[in-house]
Amino acid sequence: MQRRTFIKQTSILTALASTQTLASNNPSTQFPMVISTWKNEKANEAAWASLQKTGRALDAVEAGARIPEADPNDTSVGYGGFPDRDGNVTLDACIMDEKGNAGSVTFLQHIMHPISVARAVMEKTPHVMLSGEGALQFALSQGFKKENLLTDVAKKAWEEWKKTSKYEPKINIERHDTIGLLALGTKGEISGACTTSGLAFKMHGRVGDSPVIGAAVFCDDEVGGACATGLGEFVLKTLGSFLIVELMRNGKTPQQACEEAIMRIVKRYNYKEFQIGYLALNKKGEYGAYSIQSGFSYTITENGVTKVIESKYYMK
Ligand code: ASP
Repeated sequence: MQRRTFIKQTSILTALASTQTLASNNPSTQFPMVISTWKNEKANEAAWASLQKTGRALDAVEAGARIPEADPNDTSVGYGGFPDRDGNVTLDACIMDEKGNAGSVTFLQHIMHPISVARAVMEKTPHVMLSGEGALQFALSQGFKKENLLTDVAKKAWEEWKKTSKYEPKINIERHDTIGLLALGTKGEISGACTTSGLAFKMHGRVGDSPVIGAAVFCDDEVGGACATGLGEFVLKTLGSFLIVELMRNGKTPQQACEEAIMRIVKRYNYKEFQIGYLALNKKGEYGAYSIQSGFSYTITENGVTKVIESKYYMK
């Protein structure tokens, strides 16, 4: 490249970069707002109520995640979550704030609100991730209560599954309700969270993407955030949320970034057999979503109004 062309291109890029900085501070920027995977109106409403109180995105995503965690009818998250193939409810969660702080728990049992334990890991320890027995001990030391999370409904479903399963963990398309949330606070700062009981009837000890920062959730306050749901193994293998944030950093819209992240999976893996859904939100309040199969939806709350939107998807 000739030097003059280089200088010209560089100055265009610099001009573009400063427009973006201006745009992200623009008063027309849409915040606060909350967006979450699947049909999760109650979670969004709790997140919105939290925003009215503290204005902080981090409080909002935690408050939202706690709703399905405590709901016995949600069989993919927290209390009432379907157990692993040995009958244990094991939980994964992570949380990340606008400063790049992160906390997570994996393979946690007996605690109704893993998202709050993840936040405590972030705020009260020098670590990012605590697992299994250690995570439980930490939770108890922080005043969380030990509870039985296996409901009668989940136990029955597991007993039914055992009759025909041959003890084989199954990849399935339908059973994904993991909640991932992203929020912009009243100052426009971004945070994200994710919480799950993981795949129904998984192998004991299996951990998916949901507690892994960069896989299930990633936020960068210069750019925005992303979160994931679906078969965690493929989100892990492609580090989907980190990828989406980096694509947005390089100029893609949230929609384009989600589509590109799904294409990375489609190109390399036997995608017809499983579902992944991605959600992204940038600092301007623009959002996007994309999944492999039909059926993925997301819930958005802006100006106090909550609506559920069907995501675009790859497999027609
Ligand atoms: N991503 C979760 C996992 O793999 C499952 C889900 O989204 O339902 O554990």
